[in-house]
Amino acid sequence: MKNIYLDNAATTPIRQEVIDEMVKVMQSEYGNPSSTHSIGRSAKAIIETSRKTIAKQLHCNAQEIVFTSTATEATNWILRSAVKDFGVKRIITSKIEHHATLYTVQALQEEFDIAVEFVNVSHEGTIDYAQFSALFSNDIKTLVSLMHVNNETGVINDIEKIGIICHQNKALFHCDTVQSIGKTELNLQELAIDFLVASAHKFHGPKGAGFAYVRKNLVLQPMIFGGEQEKGWRAGTESVHQIAGMAKALELSFEYLNEERKYITDLKKYCFQKLQQVFPEFSVNGDDTFYNILNVLLPFSPEKTAMILFNLDMKGISVSRGSACQSGSAKPSHVLAEMLNEEELKKPSLRISFSHYNTKEEIDCLISALNEI
Ligand code: PLP
Repeated sequence: MKNIYLDNAATTPIRQEVIDEMVKVMQSEYGNPSSTHSIGRSAKAIIETSRKTIAKQLHCNAQEIVFTSTATEATNWILRSAVKDFGVKRIITSKIEHHATLYTVQALQEEFDIAVEFVNVSHEGTIDYAQFSALFSNDIKTLVSLMHVNNETGVINDIEKIGIICHQNKALFHCDTVQSIGKTELNLQELAIDFLVASAHKFHGPKGAGFAYVRKNLVLQPMIFGGEQEKGWRAGTESVHQIAGMAKALELSFEYLNEERKYITDLKKYCFQKLQQVFPEFSVNGDDTFYNILNVLLPFSPEKTAMILFNLDMKGISVSRGSACQSGSAKPSHVLAEMLNEEELKKPSLRISFSHYNTKEEIDCLISALNEI
């Protein structure tokens, strides 16, 4: 049975060129980047070249990129340091953020008694910009944490507008760009973003490698104490091959961006049209969504709803219900729970997320498998 992987918002297959790069580094660059001899310096050079490669794609300075293990780690560090070290007394976020943000904010609220305010979200998954602006009526030291592309629905936040509102109100802006990095252009010289986070496995890189962008002159405190790695902010010997693989993956994502974006946009359109033919009553969760995510509400009975993921899985088809962390759980996704009404939540919502490795034939298989349930 051939596997059909349509869950690319959860993670992506690693590109062969990235695997080759990592193998090369593992075979020949075994030095400790902190060692002063030539073998160590050579490993250090790989890290610094990777940093420059990433910075170039995002139009920022290499010193503004900090390597971490995941985006979750980066978000935990940034939000905690903002509260502990920058004196942030209030965080504005939304209830449809990833749990990496929501649970960190909740923990900080309990620990430091900060104020937390939520931006309203519409039935279509978009945030209420007027209400967001109105939240700044007092001048408490504030950090805003709003994502770029929602991982469940693909709804896109206008981060240019959010950044402007933040900076007009002297608030710091942390942006979870996990779903958009490598899939769209981001110019950090033009965007008023102070912190962003990314994970390599979402752009065909390795798992366990991520990075934070921390705008110049914002001095955070260490998340892990020890050596001098990453300016002393994240001590511990660097994973040289993972970092090299991440930089290669990002570089390739941008090299192929236009053709892959066009290809994936076409696939999504094809999938939408096929669904419309077979299930005329289906609807899409979210308005104006990103080109690789299609979250659909299917007109299925409650009995069919319970079996849907299992049935697809038996046929080798991987899609997701809500976010990957929740698949298999009976709880509705916290994102859809915020957007949809009770009747809509009883029906199955499926997240279908594409990459350039998918084909129209795979989409045909998905549609016929859904039709047979
Ligand atoms: N933020 C978003 C929007 C995500 O989709 C994910 C992963 O699903 C994360 C954060 C966390 O990424 P990681 O598990 O790689 O830290």
